[in-house]
Amino acid sequence: MTRALSTRTENIAASLTVAIDTLAKQMIAEGKDVVSLGAGEPDFPTPKPIRDAACNAINEGKTRYTAPVGILEVRKAVCDKLKRDNGLDYAPEQIIMTSGAKHAVFNALAALINPGDEVIIPAPYWVTYPELVKWLGGRPVFVQAGIENDFKITAAQLEAAVTERTKAILINNPCNPTGSVYTRDELAALAKVIVEKDIYCISDEVYEYFVYNGAFTSIACFEGMPERSIVINGFSKSHCMTGWRIGYDAAPAPIAKIIGKIQGQATHHPSNIAQYAALGALQMGMGEVEKMQAAFRKRRDFMVSQASRILGTPVAAPAGAFYLFAPVAKYYGKKTPAGTTVSGSIDFCKYLLETQGLAIVPGAAFGDDTCVRFSYAASDETLAKACERFEKGILGLHE
Ligand code: GLU
Repeated sequence: MTRALSTRTENIAASLTVAIDTLAKQMIAEGKDVVSLGAGEPDFPTPKPIRDAACNAINEGKTRYTAPVGILEVRKAVCDKLKRDNGLDYAPEQIIMTSGAKHAVFNALAALINPGDEVIIPAPYWVTYPELVKWLGGRPVFVQAGIENDFKITAAQLEAAVTERTKAILINNPCNPTGSVYTRDELAALAKVIVEKDIYCISDEVYEYFVYNGAFTSIACFEGMPERSIVINGFSKSHCMTGWRIGYDAAPAPIAKIIGKIQGQATHHPSNIAQYAALGALQMGMGEVEKMQAAFRKRRDFMVSQASRILGTPVAAPAGAFYLFAPVAKYYGKKTPAGTTVSGSIDFCKYLLETQGLAIVPGAAFGDDTCVRFSYAASDETLAKACERFEKGILGLHE
C-alpha cells in the first residue's frame, strides 16, 4: 500500500507511561522478575460497593445504549459531588460521562481547538497533554515550572505566555508527574489572569483526593471561572477503577453540548455498566478513599526518605498525587557496568529496567529530562523492593 497514513496522527508520540506499563506487564507475564512503579495505577482492588453496583447493573439488564452524555442519574450524582467537594454549581446537562479522564481531556480540547490555537501547558506536564493538543491541530506552549518553585508556575509566568492565539491553559492539580498542589491563593492569582486575558481553562483534577498537606481547591470556583472552565475528573485513581475507564467533563452548557455531539459521533458513550459502577462510587461515602489516602501518605514518606538517602540529597515531599519526581541528572555522563554512557532520563530508566528489572518513567516523557518518576501507588513490599533495585542500579554506575 503506497497511500499515506494520517500525518497528523503519525506526528504525535505514543504515550510513554502506557508503553512502559504495557512492557512491564508483558515482561511479568513472561515470567521475568520485574518491579513496576511505571503507571500510576493503585494496587488496591476496586471497592466492593462499586463491584456490586456493576454486577447489579448487568443482572438488571442495564446493558443497552445510554445517552451519549451518559445516564441522567449518574450525571446528577456527579453534580452533587461537585457541589459537596468543590462548591461548584453544575446542572446535569453540563456533565458528560467519558471513558476515563484521558478521554475527558481529549473531549475538552476537541471542543476548543482550532488549527494554530495555542494551549498553555505548565511543565513538567502529563505526557498526554501536548500530544492531544498537537493531534487536534493546536500548538502546545510550555511554561516551565522549576523544582525551585515546587514545580508550580506563577501568575506572572502565565501572563507572559498568553498571546493573541492562546485558547486555553491546561492545568493538572494535583500534578502528575510532580505531585505539586497549588494553594488557594496561587490558584486565585492564576484565575485572575485567565479571566483578564479571557482564555479558557481545562482543569484536570483526577488526583483531587490525594492531597497530603492542606486542602484541595478547584480553580473553577473563582469569580469569572465557571463560564470558562472545563473541569475533568475520573474514578480510576480515587476508586481504583483504572480498567473500568470512567470519568467526566463538567463544562459550561454550550461546550457541554459540543462535547455531547463529539461523543455521539465518536464513541456514543462510556460503558453503561461502568457508569453504574461510578454511581456506586459516588454513593458509597469516602471511607475507602480515606483509607487509601492514609496508605499513600505513608508510602510517600517512605519513598521520600529512601530517595533522599539513595540519591544523597534531600528530595522534597510532594504535596499530592502519588508520584515522586526525583532529580537524577547528576548520574548523567556516568557509565553502566556494560560500558554504555547514561546520557539522560531515557537511558537511565532503560538501564534500570534492563539490569535491575525496575520500571520507572523517564522525566523526558513529562518535559523534564533531569528527573525520573516513581509511582508509589504500589504495595509496601513492591516499594521496598523497588528502592533496593534503584539503589543497586545507582551503585552500579561509575565515572
Ligand atoms: N495516568 C497514569 C500515568 O500517568 C496512567 C497511564 C497514562 O494514562 O498515562 O501513569
